Amino acid sequence: MEKKLYIVRCGEVALKGMNKPYFERILLERVRKAIECYEDAEARWIDGLMFVRVPADIPEDDVIGRCVRVFGVASVSPAIEAPKDINEIGRLAAEYMMQLIEEEGVRTFKVKGKRADKSFAVQSPEIGKQVGAIILKTCKVLSVNVHEPDVLLTVDVRREGAYIFRDKIKGFGGLPLGTNGRGMILMSGGIDSPVAAFMMAKRGMSIEAVHFHSYPYTSQRAQKKVEDLVKVLAGYMGTIRMHVVNLLPIQEQIVQNCPEDETTLLVRRFMMRIAEEIAVRNHNMMLITGEDLGQVASQTAEALVVTDSVVKMPVMRPLIAMDKVDIMDKAREIGTYDISIQPYEDCCTVFLPKHPVTKPKLERIEKSESALDVQALVDAAVAAEEIIEIRP
Ligand code: ATP
Ligand code: MG
Repeated sequence: MEKKLYIVRCGEVALKGMNKPYFERILLERVRKAIECYEDAEARWIDGLMFVRVPADIPEDDVIGRCVRVFGVASVSPAIEAPKDINEIGRLAAEYMMQLIEEEGVRTFKVKGKRADKSFAVQSPEIGKQVGAIILKTCKVLSVNVHEPDVLLTVDVRREGAYIFRDKIKGFGGLPLGTNGRGMILMSGGIDSPVAAFMMAKRGMSIEAVHFHSYPYTSQRAQKKVEDLVKVLAGYMGTIRMHVVNLLPIQEQIVQNCPEDETTLLVRRFMMRIAEEIAVRNHNMMLITGEDLGQVASQTAEALVVTDSVVKMPVMRPLIAMDKVDIMDKAREIGTYDISIQPYEDCCTVFLPKHPVTKPKLERIEKSESALDVQALVDAAVAAEEIIEIRP
């Protein structure tokens, strides 16, 4: 079977100094994993670019979709391979333009020449001119437009061959998954936490999740929504393990024994404790939340201090300084938004106080909490956890 070439460019990985081979190796593994569903697909590095070859009958969109979802990939271009002969390059470029005229009604173009291989006799500007001339001769309906061409064709002459490509489809950038530790995301069904998980994973962090529910006050459908969200994330990160914990026994204790206006905060402190316990047991080094400064009562600066003070583990809040509209845009971009806005209840909305404290004092909260057997409640919740593996 004939193969089609895709050129994959890495972003920040290229800037790594001594560690570059390590990052390149992991990125290669990740791309290979992303295309392993195709029989006979291959990927390898050649002089700073990754060359991916898959059977030619596989739709371009499918291959590109898989490659751009790999963190560390800056862009992808479907490319045509040519021998290092300017006439042959011109012939193949013209053949490609003919195809674009038929399929897309292209009328104007520009060729940009690049010569990484300095031993190639024709210099960069001249490559553009000569290939452009051959295209004009072959494709009578086309004309050159240097400012706003319908198609900008790049001809890249490198050591091992020449490559003709048109688009650069942008990836998410970042660093390859698994190059930056392991974190536990507190995953609700809202808009924020999936985006927070995505952002940390994009920086190379492997992700595990914990979700709290208050069944039967929250429904099974609400949990299914969270699973659907994690499934979208798994499309970027591979299978994700999610710990599911029932918070209801703790919530009931809080409601019975503590001041009503502190309920949300006290519940959040338990979430953090339980998440940390599960994180430690599963070798995660950080907690991640979708909190955003000032978004709701439990996310004021004072409230964050109070929630943080129960854990030793660093708590990452990648959205902390973002505006909600920007978080929503990001959610749309990564494909979680439509699921997040489905109207299902969250355990935080069960027993919601009428007037939650917005400027809590740590001493007061600790005093309220002393009415509870904190450790026993945490232990019982952790012991009753369920674990599910969510595949892409
Ligand atoms: P989100 O949109 O992520 O639900 P939110 O704006 O609704 O966030 P909160 O409900 O206060 O804010 O939750 C803040 C953070 O606490 C969430 O981003 C998430 O990390 C964590 N969290 C909230 N509810 C749950 C839950 N049921 N299970 C696990 N983590 C949760
Ligand atoms: Mg929420």
